[in-house]
Amino acid sequence: MSQVPALSLLQQTDARHHFHPFSDNHELAQIGTRIIDRAEGVYIYDIEGNRILDGMSGLWNVAVGYDRKEIIDAITKQLHQLAYYNTFFKTSHMPAIELSELLAEISPPQFNRVFYTSSGSEANDTIIRMVRTYWATKGAPERQVIIGRWNGYHGSTIGGASLGGMKYMHAQGGLPISGIHHIDQPYWYGEGGDEDPEAFGIRVARQLETAILEIGVDKVAAFIGEPVQGAGGVIIPPKSYWPEIQRICNQYGILLIADEVICGFGRTGNWFGCQTFGFEPDLIAFAKAVSSGYQPIGGVLVSDKVADVLDSIGDDFNHGYTNSAHPAGCAAAIANIRIIQNEKLIERIRDDIGPYLQTRWAELGDHPLVGEARMVGLIGALELSPDKARRAPFAKVGSAGMICRDISFASGLIMRATRDTMLLAPPFIVSHDEVDFIVKTARDVLDRTALELKERGLA
Ligand code: PMP
Repeated sequence: MSQVPALSLLQQTDARHHFHPFSDNHELAQIGTRIIDRAEGVYIYDIEGNRILDGMSGLWNVAVGYDRKEIIDAITKQLHQLAYYNTFFKTSHMPAIELSELLAEISPPQFNRVFYTSSGSEANDTIIRMVRTYWATKGAPERQVIIGRWNGYHGSTIGGASLGGMKYMHAQGGLPISGIHHIDQPYWYGEGGDEDPEAFGIRVARQLETAILEIGVDKVAAFIGEPVQGAGGVIIPPKSYWPEIQRICNQYGILLIADEVICGFGRTGNWFGCQTFGFEPDLIAFAKAVSSGYQPIGGVLVSDKVADVLDSIGDDFNHGYTNSAHPAGCAAAIANIRIIQNEKLIERIRDDIGPYLQTRWAELGDHPLVGEARMVGLIGALELSPDKARRAPFAKVGSAGMICRDISFASGLIMRATRDTMLLAPPFIVSHDEVDFIVKTARDVLDRTALELKERGLA
C-alpha cells in the first residue's frame, strides 16, 4: 500500500484545474501541492499553520518582506484614484512619471529613461527588439546577433528563453529563435578545474571575443548576462570576468546588456549588480524586487546612448504591453523603493546583515557534504558534493539537491535546489537571529541529507 496521504479537497481541485509553471504536472497531481495561506515579514504560513522562513524571498523578489502596509496602502489608494490607464496615446499618469524619475535617480548615471513591462521576460523581449532597432536605425540592420551564456536565465517567453541558455527549455517549443548565440558561463566551481579562478574568469570572458570574430563583428548586436546568474545556480563570477566582458564590448562596439531581474534593487549590496561587479551596461532589464512582488511590474532602463538613437527612428517604436506602466504597479514600485531608501536596506546589506550572513554561511563550507559555500550581498549557494576535495558532482545529478530541498522545507526553511546546488536569497529585512536560524537549520538539514544519501546508496 502506498504511504502517500490522501489529497485534500483543495489539493484535488488544484490538481484538476491548475497548470503549474516549471512543474511535472502529472507527478504533482499525485503528491499534491503545499497550499500557502498567508505571509508576514520573512515568514510564509501554509494552510496547516506551519511557519516557514522564506529563504528565497518568494522567487527572489520579496525584498522588503511580506505584509508591508505602506505598499498595500499605496496600491489601494492608486486603484481608487486611477485603476488603469495606458501610456500609449500621447498620455501619461502620475505614478508612471514619479517612478520614472525615481528610477533615473537611483540607477547608474547613463540611465535616464525607462520602458515598462509586467515581467522580466517581457523586459528581455523588449530588449531584443530595442537592440535590433538600435542597429537598424544606425544603418547596420545586419547587426542582429545577441550573445548570451549557457545556463543563463532570461525568462520564459520565446525571446527570453532563447536568450537564456537553459538547454531543457530550448528542448521544448522549437527554441532558440534565430540570431542568438551562447558562450560558456563563468562557473569556476563546476567548470574551472584546476585553473586559478581569476585566470578562468578572463578565459571564459574571452569566449565572447572569439564568438564575435567567428560570427563577424558587423553581425553582432549585443551581449547579455546576469551579473550573478540566479536560476542557473547563483553563479558568482570571478572578479576578473565582467571588466573583461566590458573591455571586449567596448573594443568591438557592441551593446552590453545587464539582466538585473534578480540583482537589481539591492540584492548584491548596491542598487544594481553591475555596480557591484564594476561594469557599465547600455541596457538593464529589471522586474522582481522593483515592487517586491506586490504587483507584477518590470521594465528596461535605457541609457542615453541607446535612447538618443531610438528617439531618432522617425517612426513609432512599435512595441508595448497593455500593462506597460500599470498605475498600481508603478505605485507599488514607488512605495517599495521608498522603503528600501528610508530603511537603508542596501546599506544594511553592504555593511551589516550582508557581511554577517556571508560569514556565517561560509562556516557551512566545512560540512563534509559542501564543496563550496559562496555568497555576495544576500544571494548565495552551497554546492553539494560526494567528494568535496575533487569538487565532484553526484552520479545522479539533482538527487541530492531534491532530498536536501525537501528536508529543508520540512524543517521550516525554504532553500531552492538547482541541480545539487542549494540556493539562498532571503528578504533584505532578515534579522541577525533569523540568520542564525537559517545557518543552524541548514547545517542540520545537511546532516540529515548526508544520512539519507547514504541510506539510499546515492553517496
Ligand atoms: N531574468 C532573470 C535573471 C530572472 O531571474 C528571471 C526570473 N527568474 C527573468 C529574467 C524572468 O522574469 P519573469 O519571471 O518576471 O518573466
